[in-house]
Amino acid sequence: MSRGDLFIVSSPSGAGKTTLIRRVLEDPRIGGSLHFSVSHTTRLPRVGERTGVEYHFVDEAAFRAIETRGGFLEWAVVHGNLYGTSRDEVEPRLDRGIDVLLDIDVQGARQVRSHVPEAVKVIVFPPSREVLEMRLKARGSDAPDVVLRRLAVARKEMEEWGEFDYAIINEDLEAAVDELRSILVARRAGKSRRRERLESILRSFAP
Ligand code: 5GP
Repeated sequence: MSRGDLFIVSSPSGAGKTTLIRRVLEDPRIGGSLHFSVSHTTRLPRVGERTGVEYHFVDEAAFRAIETRGGFLEWAVVHGNLYGTSRDEVEPRLDRGIDVLLDIDVQGARQVRSHVPEAVKVIVFPPSREVLEMRLKARGSDAPDVVLRRLAVARKEMEEWGEFDYAIINEDLEAAVDELRSILVARRAGKSRRRERLESILRSFAP
């Protein structure tokens, strides 16, 4: 059986990546055969978030214990909280031929890139600075100086676009959903994913 593909979807905060991913996973043609990697985080759950679904919510000691035993594929400090992708979430599934999608920040994407060079890397851009600023302010959860800081961080992160394979500009959500879905679907036609079937079809042509 061929290994599953690892997809990394990254963006600066406020670019709408989480909504985009949720929409794509709701599509039964995609969600049924793709595992969303549930990260560990020390941030507190938001209203409606459940541990094991959006995140594994843990305290810092538990997070550090996993890190110490080498249990994270990558981890990073994002806006003051620890976030990490555990190997258990990813590696056994890839081995079983299941695709895995990581919703992680740009620092995490950099780390995964160095361990798993064949990962498919997608960056999501907002259509403009104004739109990102508007989205960050609309959340209403951050003071104006925090919004400015996030915009500066966003710029630094977006400067790394050249390291990604695909870039989605999230101007129109439906168009962005279509693009991400297409990237996931196209990978399934990758020749290495089809090796066994291709060879078996070819064998049936043997004289
Ligand atoms: P939020 O707290 O808003 O859910 O996520 C904040 C940021 O952390 C988002 O950019 C999200 O992609 C990123 N993030 C979530 N899980 C992980 C992870 O396991 N590793 C890294 N590096 N970033 C993560």
